[in-house]
Amino acid sequence: MTATIIDGTAVAAAVEDDVRGDVEAMVAAGMPPPSLHVVLCNDDPASAAYVRGKDRAAARVGISGVVHRPPIESTTDELLELVEMLNDDDTVDGILVQLPLPDQVDAGRVVEAVSPDKDADGLHPVNAGLLAQGRPRISPCTPAGCMELLRRYDVPVRGSRAVVIGRSTLVGRPMAMLLVNADATVTICHSRTHDLPAVCREADILVAAIGRPRFVDASFVKPGACVIDVGITRVDGRLAGDVDRESVEPMAGWLTPVPRGVGPMTVAMLMRNTVDLARARRGRAFAPHLA
Ligand code: NAP
Repeated sequence: MTATIIDGTAVAAAVEDDVRGDVEAMVAAGMPPPSLHVVLCNDDPASAAYVRGKDRAAARVGISGVVHRPPIESTTDELLELVEMLNDDDTVDGILVQLPLPDQVDAGRVVEAVSPDKDADGLHPVNAGLLAQGRPRISPCTPAGCMELLRRYDVPVRGSRAVVIGRSTLVGRPMAMLLVNADATVTICHSRTHDLPAVCREADILVAAIGRPRFVDASFVKPGACVIDVGITRVDGRLAGDVDRESVEPMAGWLTPVPRGVGPMTVAMLMRNTVDLARARRGRAFAPHLA
């Protein structure tokens, strides 16, 4: 067996096409295009590159993208003031606070200050809580992107055994919630899990969100399983995933590559979230699932 390689770039383009259609419909109905406001307060080149990528995607789908660059010396109170201003501005549909924030800033307070109704990242505790209760409104972009890959490649989820390695707020936990909400039977693993390969070998769907290059090899994989590689680590100037593709590809049924797997989906789902938030704020009829 050789795994079907899941083409994240193609699926992300298809999601963007859908989002562009939704934006065009909103504009045709006389509404302004949705707007996404990013707060970028660091001098990290990787963050700057992510924000540029988000801005370009927004332009492609017709979302109005605005980047706020408060000074790097900003205090927690100053960033809270900026977020409050964006919360109160009726022309702002989605807000995203790019992490990391400078050391002097209480990042948790700033992220939690974003209104749950404008939480484009889906990371606000209210939205995380709704997801955990099985009535999701806005889901974190990376795990939502993984679910979209499973859906578009017809990977059976209902009734399947899924194992998620990683329990972060950003990826592992919401991924597990999305899978259980889709009727998978889910196990969450982490650095204290005993005999990790044996647990993973039970998985029909294995999601690796660890941040350790090529950690997951064939000994973790049940023949025919779908392996979703979320990890991104720069090794010798190149991107490496958490999965050792060479050993896993002959075993798995499906596999996401790195790059061009999960990565492009994160930005596409951010665009999806922004449009969903805009529709929900402007008229429930446009987004009944968010009512
Ligand atoms: P994180 O917050 O560092 O969490 C990593 C998780 O992996 C933790 O729960 C940790 O367990 C677990 N872990 C670490 N070493 C392990 C081991 N040896 N065995 C089992 N579990 C282990 O990272 P994250 O934010 O979730 O991101 C994970 C990876 O995804 C990173 O490479 C990141 O760059 C990537 N990522 C990619 C995208 C994308 O768009 N493709 C988006 C976000 C993140 P403990 O909780 O026990 O410490």
